[in-house]
Amino acid sequence: MVKSSASGSETTFIDTLVVGAGQAGIAMSEHLSKSGVPHLVLERARIAERWRTGRWDSLVANGPAWHDRFPGLEFEGDPDGFPGKEEVADYFEAYAKRYEAPVRTGVEVHNVRRNERRPGFTVTTSAGVFEANRVVVATGAFQRPIIPSIAPIDKRMMQIHSAEYRSPAQLPDGGVLVVGAGSSGVQIADELNRSGRKVILSVGPHDRPPRAYRNRDYCWWLGVLGEWEAATPTPGREHVTIAVSGARGGQTIDFRRLALEGITLVGQAEAFQEGKATFRPDLAENVERGDKNYGAVLDRADAFAERNGLDLPPDPGARKAYPEPDCVTHPIRELDLAEAGVSSIIWATGYVADYSWVQVDAFDANGKPRHQRGVSSESGLYFLGLPYQSRRGSSFIWGVWHDAKFVADHIVIQRDYSAYRDPSERRKTLNTK
Ligand SMILES: Cc1cc2nc3c(=O)[nH]c(=O)nc-3n(C[C@H](O)[C@H](O)[C@H](O)COP(=O)(O)OP(=O)(O)OC[C@H]3O[C@@H](n4cnc5c(N)ncnc54)[C@H](O)[C@@H]3O)c2cc1C
Repeated sequence: MVKSSASGSETTFIDTLVVGAGQAGIAMSEHLSKSGVPHLVLERARIAERWRTGRWDSLVANGPAWHDRFPGLEFEGDPDGFPGKEEVADYFEAYAKRYEAPVRTGVEVHNVRRNERRPGFTVTTSAGVFEANRVVVATGAFQRPIIPSIAPIDKRMMQIHSAEYRSPAQLPDGGVLVVGAGSSGVQIADELNRSGRKVILSVGPHDRPPRAYRNRDYCWWLGVLGEWEAATPTPGREHVTIAVSGARGGQTIDFRRLALEGITLVGQAEAFQEGKATFRPDLAENVERGDKNYGAVLDRADAFAERNGLDLPPDPGARKAYPEPDCVTHPIRELDLAEAGVSSIIWATGYVADYSWVQVDAFDANGKPRHQRGVSSESGLYFLGLPYQSRRGSSFIWGVWHDAKFVADHIVIQRDYSAYRDPSERRKTLNTK
């Protein structure tokens, strides 16, 4: 790292600057170190901050410890268990230590600009100005919580995003409407229901793979069936969320079971007007589609086991269907929230990325990075941790490590091109020695 203060204010020069020290930034640092690329990781808070403070208290990893990890280190404890969020954060801290990742915490990057008429970037931060030949944006896909515009303006109602949810005790007495039934929404709804709250869960299109089948976790099945490698979402299913959970040792998400346990299921939230919520008539269809996805995974798993002669025990219980709950056969289309005793709404409606601070021409008209496997359209700028950056697993723990390797390899190749000197240049260098 070189520092210069010729212009009065100090600028730090570094070959490659990585922004963000979540799992993506840590994986990036490991691969850059292994390739001998001088680099620095800037993190505005702490390593793996989102796992520490951006999640609810009881969250555990969605995948078992043997799967949701980097190759270079195993979790302590049961490999088939589901580590809690603090364990996951500790894991990444330990990982950064093990690979001596050069992380500077407490430094926020304010903006990144492409240098004019010379390569590289000028990066303004809370700790001064940096110049870097390359910048890797590793600030996560799940950055800015999204609450849809249908959210009611009602001061009597507590409304939070799932990113702000911590535990049932945080909510005022009364019932809760949870909007969104991906992994966050179902887990929060389940926790609230178990704490004795009245819960209404708005369910949209979803996939719900079995937690485990024939003694193998779904992470294993999706791996051997090649689903983690899918390069793009199946057309028409781009907005389909996935409902899985490692809570309480890991159980398959089954909406009929949740209903039998006391949760009232409704279709997608459509509008809120004069204290009334309306829901689309799509609940049965969404539940049925989820069942189809579930059944298809079982069928593909059976076919794989058969074809490969795998000696896995049969699992007839996995095909047992719960009875159709009343809330599915007679769905509620309109609900007076006060009459139903609902005092809070949790919006488990996802996140978007925020790249407003990357002031480089590397985004499409929708603000999405223009890139190929993380190599952006602007030479020297890279992204890591994007959904489907190279495959379905890209924004998850195990997937980002492999993408980081690809990005590091690209950086090494580009460094070699930059280092090339033609014979006359080489002679000049020799003569000046
Ligand atoms: C509720 C939830 C549960 C999840 N569970 C799992 C799971 O079990 N298994 C799994 O594989 N994946 C899971 N994921 C998906 C994914 O693994 C996590 O979101 C993970 O945190 C993404 O890691 P990341 O490094 O890409 O981004 P982040 O963890 O978001 O890290 C980005 C870092 O960048 C820092 N940063 C941002 N902007 C700046 C800036 N301008 N300057 C400096 N620093 C900055 C942030 O402070 C943060 O530390 C989950 C996601 C969510 C939302």
